[in-house]
Amino acid sequence: MAAHILVLPGDYIGPEIMTEAVRVLEVVNRRFNLELTWEEGLLGGAALDVHGVPLPTQTMERARAADAILLGAVGGPKWDAVERHLRPERGLLGLRSELGLFGNLRPAILYPQLAEASSLKPEVVAGLDILIVRELTGGIYFGEPRGIRVLENGEREGFNTYVYNESEIRRIGHLAFSLARQRDHRVCSVDKSNVLEVTVLWREVMEEVARDYPDVTLSHMYVDNAAMQLVRAPKQFDVMVTGNMFGDILSDAAAMLTGSIGMLPSASLDRNGRGMYEPCHGSAPDIAGEGKANPLATILSVAMMLRYTLANPEAAAAIEQAVSTVLDQGLRTPDIQRAGVEAVSTSAMGDAVVAAL
Ligand code: ATP
Ligand code: MG
Repeated sequence: MAAHILVLPGDYIGPEIMTEAVRVLEVVNRRFNLELTWEEGLLGGAALDVHGVPLPTQTMERARAADAILLGAVGGPKWDAVERHLRPERGLLGLRSELGLFGNLRPAILYPQLAEASSLKPEVVAGLDILIVRELTGGIYFGEPRGIRVLENGEREGFNTYVYNESEIRRIGHLAFSLARQRDHRVCSVDKSNVLEVTVLWREVMEEVARDYPDVTLSHMYVDNAAMQLVRAPKQFDVMVTGNMFGDILSDAAAMLTGSIGMLPSASLDRNGRGMYEPCHGSAPDIAGEGKANPLATILSVAMMLRYTLANPEAAAAIEQAVSTVLDQGLRTPDIQRAGVEAVSTSAMGDAVVAAL
């Protein structure tokens, strides 16, 4: 299927890791005759420097026209003094909300070669392969009213609103269940329905969605227990689906199970399966320009793009296999370095993946 991709390298290590990811894209494009085309655009600090805004109109227009977006990372100390509404991160948030990217997918996969880098014992995480599906555009992060007010007695009070309507819950539910069909057919919905009414509704709607997927098993878990189970016995999960805030917290916890943040890709999907793909990590200003950044999270984001938006699981699997091969060969960037073995550079890692492909 011919498709057009908008590539947004971003800031600090963004361009370094994106160079390697685009080389991988070139190889799979040729090898699998994908007929993909792409162009580069500016977002974040890079856009601010050129256009004075973090999300220029032309980037927004190209993003709307593209089938998928591949993003490096945005932000960093260079723009610390910039006004709040012009911060690089605002560009990213604007892009997400304008495109209606409500479904955030974060796989936590442990490559067996990196078992020693996990925060848990090898036997607890060996073979770990879970997918956290987080609602990204609603919940308490966006609920109104919100603010800090002064009460009659002079005391200050902070408040936020945790709200989800039925259609928002149904939408993320359908996404989670359809993804479970491509995996182990199990969904665990995470809520706090013993305390929060909004998640009582969440649980009810998930049950309703489940009726459309008789081949998928639905279970429920309170978020506190889910956090505990994630570090106690994470392999019990297949797909976890949850709201914005719980998903934010659980997906960071899950990230630590897999070793380095430099290995973790993510996807953010709209209702038509179009999406933005980016590594889970930030722009890592502390290592920018030194050839130390691990490009594998971005390369694996290309694989997710092929699987979830471009409907080419074969090409996706080929990239994932190539990543596994370079890890087998012992190649390690500094973030996943093993004692006594010299680390390789960002571009050497990219070379190895290209060669393995
Ligand atoms: P953000 O708020 O954008 O998520 P952050 O402040 O959480 O950013 P990161 O930019 O993700 O921070 O960096 C956190 C740490 O992880 C830093 O020490 C950074 O060098 C390291 N790091 C991040 N990405 C990579 C990578 N691809 N390879 C190696 N190290 C990385
Ligand atoms: Mg971060």
